[in-house]
Amino acid sequence: MTSFAEITTMGVGGFIEQFVEPTTRVGVIEAIEEADSKNLPLCVIGGGSNILASDEPFEGVVVRDTRRNITVPDEAAPVEGGDTTVHVNAEAGCNWDDFVDFCVGLGLEGVEGLSGIPGTVGASVVQNIGAYGQDVSRTVESVEVWDRADKKTKELSNADLHFGYRTSALKSSMYVAPAVPAAHFFPSPRFIVLSVTFALHHSNEGTVSYAQLAKALGVELGARLPIRDIRNAVLHVRGQKGMLEDATRYRLPAMQDTKRPANVREAIEQQVKHADCAGASSEACVAANVEALDGEQDYDYNRHSCGSFFMNPILTQGQADKLPEDAPRFQAVLPDGSKGVKTSAAWLIDHAGFHKATASTITPTQASRRCTRWH
Ligand SMILES: Cc1cc2nc3c(=O)[nH]c(=O)nc-3n(C[C@H](O)[C@H](O)[C@H](O)COP(=O)(O)OP(=O)(O)OC[C@H]3O[C@@H](n4cnc5c(N)ncnc54)[C@H](O)[C@@H]3O)c2cc1C
Repeated sequence: MTSFAEITTMGVGGFIEQFVEPTTRVGVIEAIEEADSKNLPLCVIGGGSNILASDEPFEGVVVRDTRRNITVPDEAAPVEGGDTTVHVNAEAGCNWDDFVDFCVGLGLEGVEGLSGIPGTVGASVVQNIGAYGQDVSRTVESVEVWDRADKKTKELSNADLHFGYRTSALKSSMYVAPAVPAAHFFPSPRFIVLSVTFALHHSNEGTVSYAQLAKALGVELGARLPIRDIRNAVLHVRGQKGMLEDATRYRLPAMQDTKRPANVREAIEQQVKHADCAGASSEACVAANVEALDGEQDYDYNRHSCGSFFMNPILTQGQADKLPEDAPRFQAVLPDGSKGVKTSAAWLIDHAGFHKATASTITPTQASRRCTRWH
């Protein structure tokens, strides 16, 4: 019997009554439809990197789409009028970073800044994943979904998806109000993603659009660099911050074949570099540690990562004016479309007394008292 603990990055969660892994598009729809028609709790899972499951048994159905194909319908089309757009379609079960690696390998610009984000293509559009100056909404052309309410497939355009900061129409379909789950659908959306079509650009260069990344690359913000270099820099920066998932999880029986084997190997080498070998300096150290992993010696990373758990709050100008001077501030847009200021959740948490890598030594009440000067 499979448990959520085996298929989520946090590594917790109880046994699953029915774990289904369809291999065809029709199979995915049938599995969802069968659960819905019997009113069984349904969870469609991707890489399990944004799910915190209860330790109680899940008395319902968990569906994991095993379709991972990536196709490039435009590949043979002639370039007309200098248009560099290339459409790429990926099935929902495709590992997200496999997809990024594939696009970078083909010389397609648009998703290189999203390197190293755990999860699948299907879930990428649910919360509009983002990092290092890019988010997925900028390249999504359309999404094919199964609508659990209307019981038919639909093609949703970028505009239909109502993308926002870490949100979309898919995510909001799970809630009746903020943080209030919609009983019919939660913990999965009304619209189940079957595949995503991206519009990327044929270009070996991409724009460095995040200050920290520019610093790591030793260039000015806005510089144009090879997309492979941007991808490598993102993986490097993420590795240094502990923001890569533990790729050894793909060796667990329940996770096998969910990510391309060559990429699992490369990802393990990356994390060994950062976790044990102090950066890029020691090739011998990396080789020895990867060899130890191959020998299946006990080698435990911080596997149960919560990752990028907190959203950076977007404040009105009036609220932002009350922030301490040294609090980070970025231009942003509020949900009603007006101008806002985004600050850093990590900064707020740190300054509330919860420093990185420390267990809680103050109570939430004490923390909220420490925060009051900002509200
Ligand atoms: C170490 C770490 C680092 C991270 N860094 C970032 C980051 O930089 N930026 C960022 O944006 N996020 C980040 N995240 C969060 C996470 O990677 C994303 O939310 C990711 O999109 C989750 O994908 P998943 O396949 O693992 O989704 P899951 O955890 O499996 O599912 C999440 C939700 O999506 C739904 N879902 C899954 N598949 C489908 C589908 N086919 N159709 C409809 N709904 C579906 C599920 O039902 C669930 O509600 C990080 C997480 C970790 C652990």
